[in-house]
Amino acid sequence: MGVLDEGHINVELEDGFSLGVFEEDPDTIAIEAAVKVLLEGLGEDINREGLRKTPFRVAKALREGTRGYSQKVKDIVQGAVFPEAGCESGIGHAGGAGGLVIVRDLDLFSYCESCLLPFQVKCHVGYVPSGQRVVGLSKMSRVADIFAKRLQDPQRLADEVCSALQQGIKPSGVAVILQCSHMNFPNFESAFLEQNHQGWVKSWVLSGSGVFENERADIWVDFLSLLKFRGINVETCSRDFTAKHWCPSQATSKLGAASSGMVAAVASILRCLDEDPSRKELVETPSHFVKWLMNFKNCDLEMKLNGFVLGQAQALKPVGDVICDDERIHSELNLSFWSQCEHHLLPFHGVVHIGYICTEGVNPIGKSRLQSIVHFHGFKLQVQERLTRQIAETASSLLGRDVMVVVEANHTCMISRGIEKFGSNTATVAILGRFSTDPATRAKFLQGIANFASAGAWWM
Ligand SMILES: [Zn+2]
Ligand SMILES: [Zn+2]
Repeated sequence: MGVLDEGHINVELEDGFSLGVFEEDPDTIAIEAAVKVLLEGLGEDINREGLRKTPFRVAKALREGTRGYSQKVKDIVQGAVFPEAGCESGIGHAGGAGGLVIVRDLDLFSYCESCLLPFQVKCHVGYVPSGQRVVGLSKMSRVADIFAKRLQDPQRLADEVCSALQQGIKPSGVAVILQCSHMNFPNFESAFLEQNHQGWVKSWVLSGSGVFENERADIWVDFLSLLKFRGINVETCSRDFTAKHWCPSQATSKLGAASSGMVAAVASILRCLDEDPSRKELVETPSHFVKWLMNFKNCDLEMKLNGFVLGQAQALKPVGDVICDDERIHSELNLSFWSQCEHHLLPFHGVVHIGYICTEGVNPIGKSRLQSIVHFHGFKLQVQERLTRQIAETASSLLGRDVMVVVEANHTCMISRGIEKFGSNTATVAILGRFSTDPATRAKFLQGIANFASAGAWWM
């Protein structure tokens, strides 16, 4: 099955910014120092093997993710606007009104200015040419990307893309629709309380100029219809939101004073990204980001484990003479988990499937107990392979040696760096006992997952 190549893939830096220059850049060095403060605040050993390169990886990802600050629309659009006879004042080739050009389904990634987590954007752009000017279609996505690669909120992103295209192409009008998905904020306690924790906050925004200025103009109906016949129906998801509803960090409780060093470190990162931490929208951002990170703090979890999983383990000792069939494969599928990639300090999340064989002396254990094992190992800095192995080992200590664990995950770090597409995911497997020696037992368990998975995708 799939193998993670976590953190070892180099994305070429754009604009001739070579890695050597990048590594020695004072801003990169300053971000690295700030990330070390964050790691120490999480109770981690910054010299641990898995974490040694994390400060550099985080700095690199953040600077690439915000490179839009140093890019200019003019450089991209210039030379890409070319004459096309007939595209005159909103008159199409056939002489009628229209001539609408749209580009659908551009995948963008942006950073939420309220919490610094990346959010996903499906971008649809349209314009009505005028003055015999059309623009190379690839430029639309490059212009949109300039503004996505900044700290953003959805409406501002839509407005900035719209006005940049309006100024760059000078058409009769520009329309921009963004469908945005922001990761929800789980935490250790709420993960237990809400078994069906909603993974994403979804919303959409639009922005229009010229003939699209009025939201009720007929041309918007055309635009939305052209999206619809490719299955894009934006109106099914909510558009009624404010920044408060959009970013879940806004609803989290205040951070304790103990984290002030970490908060100051994040503020210094903002300055290195050419942002002003005193900008109104960014004032709370450092504490929101630290609040999110603290979910994955090391020592808190050990305490929680003592109170939670171990307490349950005592109760798990076989109490009666309930012994199940030797050959019976028990499985718990689609246990959700949240974790934080220790290489990039970005979330990964997904589902865990656990299979085990009940032999003599072992009782099947409930879903909630297995779920707590999953959360225990999830809420810390992790890599997917280790998470998988640790869940298998803990489960095996309670359930006997015949255990198989499959973890399926979406990695924000892979998607935001453009290595994976939206919706792609990585599977890892840990196999103990009879599952490792008997292919038929493995196959039976995997078939169970396949049957379950056909009922719906967990990652949307
Ligand atoms: Zn946010
Ligand atoms: Zn990563």
